[in-house]
Amino acid sequence: MGKRSVPERLAALAVLESRVSERHLSYPRIKSDLDMRLAGYAGEKKADYYLEEARMKEKPVVLKDVMVPAGGKQVQVDTLVLHPAFVLVAEVKNMTGELYFDEGTGQFYRFRNGVREGMRNPEDQLNRSVAATERFLASIELPVRVHGAIVLASYHGLVIQGPVSRPIFQVDRLPGHIEKLEKENRAILKRSDLHYVVDTLNLLSREKREQFFKWYKITSNDIGPGVRCPGCFRIGMERGYGKWICMDCKATSTDAHLATLQEYRLMYGKEITSKKMRDFIQIPDLYLANRLLRERFTTVNKNKRNKRYQIKSDLSLLEPFINHLLYSK
Ligand SMILES: [Zn+2]
Repeated sequence: MGKRSVPERLAALAVLESRVSERHLSYPRIKSDLDMRLAGYAGEKKADYYLEEARMKEKPVVLKDVMVPAGGKQVQVDTLVLHPAFVLVAEVKNMTGELYFDEGTGQFYRFRNGVREGMRNPEDQLNRSVAATERFLASIELPVRVHGAIVLASYHGLVIQGPVSRPIFQVDRLPGHIEKLEKENRAILKRSDLHYVVDTLNLLSREKREQFFKWYKITSNDIGPGVRCPGCFRIGMERGYGKWICMDCKATSTDAHLATLQEYRLMYGKEITSKKMRDFIQIPDLYLANRLLRERFTTVNKNKRNKRYQIKSDLSLLEPFINHLLYSK
């Protein structure tokens, strides 16, 4: 089913949080958005683990963090399970405390340490995602019913009063749930339909890459440059004797700039020039910069004076950094 790679939005927030000054007006918002995404990611990883356990006749296709178009806007769907017999939107929640869905008022709240807290209703969120997914599928000539479920990733989330319209359960019951959906539904989609959905969604999300700069009102001047250390994850490795050296933890690396260029890609897009590379990884040496670029990247234009290179997306290079944030909490 494929491992969940680091979601792009989470990675971008991690880059911003560590490169934008804490004095920047948007820093508190970046920090809290990052914390929220990290918690969500931890829950989704757990869901992946259980999805792998499901014993099914037909293998489902699992899509993660997809942006589903919805009337000019987009709805983010955490986990979309596509199977010949069913389509399921799973809203994975990492909530703790005693949870109440109030049917009469549509409100959702939780009690934690004796304190009542109102929160966004996950059932409403799920209903929106399901409706958007159904409309999207219908728009590409696949009019099928979409199932939805709220999945609790934390065992410290206790449902006292459940939602009316949707199932809710702990993450370890996810395999049982999709096995049941397979048994209870007749095949309605062909394998080729599933691939068509995947391709269409991928294309759409690439077209509508989010603009973090606009979102957080930052400019490129707010993004601190420097190579990130693979040992302590601080920025600002120095170049010497053909390798990168961290002055903080003394770690050395020959290719730490590759992960840092993935960070560049998240911020500025896939193309880079020698000048931009030198500025971002902080090496004044033109020949070294050009060599490092030529070693790994292909040019996108033939123009000698302003050669542009293409950085291929590989978010797995940022996984150690993201895992460090995840487990240092
Ligand atoms: Zn270090």
